[in-house]
Amino acid sequence: MDETQTQSPLKTSLVGLSREQLRAALAQAGVGEKQLRMRTNQLWSWLYARGATKWETMTDVSKDLRATLSELYTLERLEVADAQFSDDGTRKYLFRMTDGQLVETVYIPEVGRGTLCVSSQVGCTLTCRFCHTGTQKLVRNLTIAEIVGQMVAVRDDLQDWGEDGLSNSGRRKITNVVMMGMGEPLYNSDNVGEALNVMSDGEGLSLSRRRITLSTSGVAPEIPLMGEKTGVMLAISLHAVRDDLRNELVPLNKKYPIETLLEACRNWPGLSNAKRITFEYVMLKGVNDTDADARDLVRMLAGIPAKINLIPFNPWPGAPYECSEWERIEAFAEIVNRAGYASPVRSPRGRDIMAACGQLKSSSVKETAASKKIAELQARNLGRG
Ligand code: SAH
Ligand code: SF4
Repeated sequence: MDETQTQSPLKTSLVGLSREQLRAALAQAGVGEKQLRMRTNQLWSWLYARGATKWETMTDVSKDLRATLSELYTLERLEVADAQFSDDGTRKYLFRMTDGQLVETVYIPEVGRGTLCVSSQVGCTLTCRFCHTGTQKLVRNLTIAEIVGQMVAVRDDLQDWGEDGLSNSGRRKITNVVMMGMGEPLYNSDNVGEALNVMSDGEGLSLSRRRITLSTSGVAPEIPLMGEKTGVMLAISLHAVRDDLRNELVPLNKKYPIETLLEACRNWPGLSNAKRITFEYVMLKGVNDTDADARDLVRMLAGIPAKINLIPFNPWPGAPYECSEWERIEAFAEIVNRAGYASPVRSPRGRDIMAACGQLKSSSVKETAASKKIAELQARNLGRG
């Protein structure tokens, strides 16, 4: 273990900080006003374009400054408390924060791309009935550094820093980020907004804003503001076409009913056919999966540039729902398709390690045996997964 990786409770890590925070940290270390911009840029590039883990590698930073910085700060990553690999290549990481709290991050490799599913909170205050994370009480919001830190740590694990030291050259393993892990990102919008700006910074992690998707269960007033702040893509966890049912599935609907939510979507900055909103719809057997529901869905979204993403329900121990039969999902998708929407059915990934949508919960390391059994049952039901 090298010196940068040892636990040092008194020092904070620079990894994951926003530009403003990094600048403040350098000022704190005595970097003068005149040099501050240049030094911040240098450090930024070492941290986020090259993924530096050692002060010694920062050859264009003077030895003296490196020594001062290393006395005050570390280059530590989030601690990996556990990592599980699915048979389909999906990787689930359990990260331990410095206060001991745990969050999960999932990496999903696909042909020609790789998606990182990032958490925004420890737990969630909302209690969507089909979601495992919703059964875990909110512990706290993640900081900017803890959100960005998930991407940095997974890039380390995947050895996904540019070979020539430039982040945006060559093929990246993480090509997309979705804020679809634990938590409601729009209840932590300041930190999430800043974190997304770090991830998309062209001199650092360099992820295109069009390849970052923010998913919300419908915090309507925050939606247009967040769009202004970040310029990323939007996904709405819709799941029902009537308020009575949505109130039950996504209790936040009582506060921001469907029409209020759709109005906020219409105000999403840059909304156009080239920048559509994805509406997520989890397929729950006998609950929201009839042909009439499908027809109402397309009617409801008329006039909003939209994509529809059908998600087979991913089960978890004690879940009050089952996934719709495969034929039902196909029939539903057919109606949506005929209305002119490409409606990919999201194939469940990483179910065997409880890494699929809505299965995340910090305690899930303990549930591997149970989740394996459920995954097997599901795979049999659906003939896939
Ligand atoms: N809180 C945010 C983002 C995290 S949830 C939100 O709700 O949008 C990410 C996605 O997984 C959401 O679309 C959510 O509705 C979906 N999801 C939750 N539980 C699920 C489950 N058991 N099976 C399938 N999808 C689920
Ligand atoms: Fe929270 Fe999203 Fe799960 Fe709802 S679906 S409980 S908002 S994480």
